[in-house]
Amino acid sequence: MPVRISKFINGYVTPEDVGPDLKVRKGLPPFMLSFTSDYKPVMTWNTTRTCNLRCVHCYSDSETKSYAGELTHEQALKMLDDMAEYGVPILLFSGGEPLMRKRVFELMAYARKVGVRPTLSTNGTLISKDVAKNMKRAGLGYAGISMDGYGDTNDKFRGKVGAFDAMVKGVENCLSEGVKVSLRFTVTQHNAQDLPKVFDFLEQKNLPRMCVYHLVYSGRGSDIMADDVERKFSRTIVDQIIDRAEYFHKKGFEKDILTIDNHCDGPYLIIKLREKGKHKLADDIYQLLLKQGGNRSGIGFGDVDNLGNVHADQFSWDYSWGNVKQKTFRQIWDGISNETIAAYKYRKPLIKGRCGKCQFFEICNGNFRARAKFATGDNWESDPACYLTDDEINVYKDAQGNYHSHDPKIESETEELKQKAEHYRKLGFNVPLALAGEAAGCLSAIPKKVSEDYLAQAKILGNTTEAAAAAEAEFTKPDPKRLAEVERLRPEALQDAENAKGINPTLEQLQLSGATGAAGA
Ligand code: SF4
Repeated sequence: MPVRISKFINGYVTPEDVGPDLKVRKGLPPFMLSFTSDYKPVMTWNTTRTCNLRCVHCYSDSETKSYAGELTHEQALKMLDDMAEYGVPILLFSGGEPLMRKRVFELMAYARKVGVRPTLSTNGTLISKDVAKNMKRAGLGYAGISMDGYGDTNDKFRGKVGAFDAMVKGVENCLSEGVKVSLRFTVTQHNAQDLPKVFDFLEQKNLPRMCVYHLVYSGRGSDIMADDVERKFSRTIVDQIIDRAEYFHKKGFEKDILTIDNHCDGPYLIIKLREKGKHKLADDIYQLLLKQGGNRSGIGFGDVDNLGNVHADQFSWDYSWGNVKQKTFRQIWDGISNETIAAYKYRKPLIKGRCGKCQFFEICNGNFRARAKFATGDNWESDPACYLTDDEINVYKDAQGNYHSHDPKIESETEELKQKAEHYRKLGFNVPLALAGEAAGCLSAIPKKVSEDYLAQAKILGNTTEAAAAAEAEFTKPDPKRLAEVERLRPEALQDAENAKGINPTLEQLQLSGATGAAGA
């Protein structure tokens, strides 16, 4: 979940707005979805891996070429039906460069009609006036346009001279056609100096939102792990973001400034506010972050790659939970017979090191597993991008190198969980599956009754894998009401798709017109 710096520190959302248990999602503004107890995931879809640029930090390692096996138009429509039936609220059309996918606007229009709100993540360089018009016609919620530095810095990142100017033109075309734009900036030590200029651009163009991304090491991003900002500099970046959020608020601009992909930004914000004596605000923000639950990979967030494989997030392509060509989205997402799904959904007893003992675990959830895996080879180790000190997270290291909490309550709770895991291991159970089953009611993704049935069966069968498969068969039946609604909307959705027939450029057209940059140029 993003850390919504401006909404939090300027009081645009408070624990009172969210209430004790916000169950109903209907009618809520999109940013409020993360505070509901209905964890239907926001999904990213890599519509194509093809891209006209070659950015250094690209997690999908995309190039200017076609990739075999990508979802066909019909398979994509079926996936959208399945997502609508399950209740996916938002689908981020990503890439590669999503505007290079044929008929992408038809898919966006279709998604909107069946109830899945389409948003877009693009490098912005292909947005002509006509393309912006089609975005509008397709009912796009937001165009997230990447600006990874100002001028030359952006071009170096994007691997193409002129990418910055083309992107600025794309922003202007969106604005003139009434498409909302959100800027996306991924921080590394080579572009951090440009952050103030990117904020200035946001102000100049009067854009409503900016997302500052921390680097996650995967795809080509893994090559530049060494380029990530130093831990202490991460604080300076977040300080700058807080200052700007306050500045915009004072000037009367209600902007949404958020940070993404490093959940320790939340605890850092709380620590800073407490240092300044703003205890009430810090406590309120803690409550809001608690509702969001920190990292939601595999719980409230997920990714479908260009081939249809479903992952916990877009950085975790090293394993898949299933493919939408073969199973419905519901069967994959709720498929508790898959060990990794269970492990992601109930990860607390599995997390090691500092994260496992951290006093902020409940609002961070151990941050990014993909970064831990890349840096240590172990999916359940601590996230190396955490920049908080041991004192700040209230832990210490013993002579054997093991971490402990200074808080006896956390220490005994975490030890108890670990013993429970050990108990299941000794009984021969699959530990993540058994833990997920036992966490009856703790996850809305695994309803209490199903979890209880699952555990009961596990006890009878003595085998958690079989029990999970049996529970899964019962558990992943489609919701008849949602299914009927999708059936009802489908003819209209197809008509909307027909009306939105796209003019987005294809790879062939771009190559013919010479618009693609040589990779790495
Ligand atoms: S130690 Fe881990 S759980 Fe705690 S704030 Fe840092 S990343 Fe989050």
